[in-house]
Amino acid sequence: METKYIFVTGGVVSSLGKGIISASIGKLLQARGYKVTIQKFDPYINIDPGTLNPYEHGECYVTVDGMETDLDLGHYERFTDIKTTRNNSVTTGRIYQAVIEKERRGDYLGKTIQVVPHITDEIKRCIKENASHDHFDFVISEIGGTIGDIESAPFMEAIRQLRWEMGRNAVNIHLTYVPYLRAAGEFKTKPTQHSVKELQSMGIQPDILILRTEHHLEDAILHKVASFCNVEPECVVQSEDMASIYEVPVNMQHQGLDIAILRKLGAPLQLESGGLVSWYHFLHLQQEAKEEVHIGLVGKYDLQDAYKSIRESLSLAAIYCGRKAKIHFINSEEITAQNVAEKLDKMAGIVICPGFGQRGIEGKIIAVEYGRTHDIPTFGICLGMQMMVIEFARNVLGYKDANSAEMRPTPQPLPEKEGSNHWVNVIDLMEEQKSITQMGGTMRLGAYDCQLVEGSKVYEAYMQPTVSTPLPIGEGQGGGSVIKERHRHRYEFNNKYREEYEAAGMKCVGINPAADLVEIVEIPEKKWYIGTQFHPEYSSTVLHPHPLFMSFVRACIDNSK
Ligand code: GLN
Repeated sequence: METKYIFVTGGVVSSLGKGIISASIGKLLQARGYKVTIQKFDPYINIDPGTLNPYEHGECYVTVDGMETDLDLGHYERFTDIKTTRNNSVTTGRIYQAVIEKERRGDYLGKTIQVVPHITDEIKRCIKENASHDHFDFVISEIGGTIGDIESAPFMEAIRQLRWEMGRNAVNIHLTYVPYLRAAGEFKTKPTQHSVKELQSMGIQPDILILRTEHHLEDAILHKVASFCNVEPECVVQSEDMASIYEVPVNMQHQGLDIAILRKLGAPLQLESGGLVSWYHFLHLQQEAKEEVHIGLVGKYDLQDAYKSIRESLSLAAIYCGRKAKIHFINSEEITAQNVAEKLDKMAGIVICPGFGQRGIEGKIIAVEYGRTHDIPTFGICLGMQMMVIEFARNVLGYKDANSAEMRPTPQPLPEKEGSNHWVNVIDLMEEQKSITQMGGTMRLGAYDCQLVEGSKVYEAYMQPTVSTPLPIGEGQGGGSVIKERHRHRYEFNNKYREEYEAAGMKCVGINPAADLVEIVEIPEKKWYIGTQFHPEYSSTVLHPHPLFMSFVRACIDNSK
């Protein structure tokens, strides 16, 4: 079968959940045995969201090949188990960068470079590139932003052209919002009609409409939208608010969205044995999981989306353990030695979040100390792991002023013990990083090998089969004691102190073999006290919850008994 293209656009308002709809479509097509990829186009000028403040853009998600991307890629991976790469995330900035590089090289042979055709051609090339690498049956392209935004216009023009070039091999799906006006006691379809008109004015006729709504819409409303918008009645579906985003694929399937797409694209309505069986199994477990396990999330961004993948990883792992994760956000800036007990005492376990910069780190250090000295299962991720290392240096090794070079970059005199005022950077830059001045894309990014130390808690965690579906070991499939995990950081455990840590009871149980970098620390005497320099949350999916999150949540449950 020739590759088929699905373009997903959104209208009326932002935040309708285009990412979840795109991921759900991917899931449904996979369930019919098709090979699918999903890509996101973001209309902003940044080259990637790596330099964006999480308050602006939520979490930055990292692909295996080290691209810093939008959190929607996290949804794609969690729903479909597809491993995304830099091809799956493209911004306006990257499109312009590519075009300008070609212009400088002289590739355009003296032509005037314009938005149409040069920018639009580059967008089309990116859409088609995915299919030419690997043979995909379907390429789903989600266009960020809302119809009518000035910055998304070149993307709209590109998909308009592609739809015409590809004919039956492409389909336009438009997601809109149908508000309910309580005063009038009615649903209003006018915003949807306007949104479709706006699309039509750009030369794009939607083939399928998905109406986001907070309450169930009667058939009459769907028919009205169909006739006003020139869309077949079977091609208008509704996406009601669901208790869980993971119910969206089955809700779409019940309304025949996958059939509508396949029919429009002239693709066989094949059925795959298995289909959504494991997915339904997961939904069943989710419904049954009522008893709560309380987990404290210590971070500085008081915003749901800032730690999206960690929250999802905890919830998914809890479901497979028969529990509902009740996640309590604890702002690290507000933690003091006086109030830490009150904030953490009721938690079955604590997660110390990743992050950058000074703000809130002392609170994280107080929290890890509390977790360590009260033997509460504690999971430090990236900056969280670094905080565990610093706290241990200060309170166990006796380096009262231990810190990370990130927090005080100027080199200081040699370390001395007890009462010394000299700075000790137990977290430091590697020599070869010291000359880097650029911010974007210069960290240690993407998947790296990590050799696990046999007999450690992490080793046990990775080796344990956790759910009925076979588990991938980190990024690799059954890769023995070498795992692969994704990174996003600049600073590293300072090997100068490794022996002291080991002797005092904090073990280095995961090592990058190529660079001899410490990737995991644990204190074996504790119930569960583990820090990872990498981000396991990026590779936890609905059908394959990550072994470390599974092991952590199990320890939390045991701790709350
Ligand atoms: N700021 C730390 C570093 O760069 C940790 C980064 C993170 O938590 N992602 O090393």
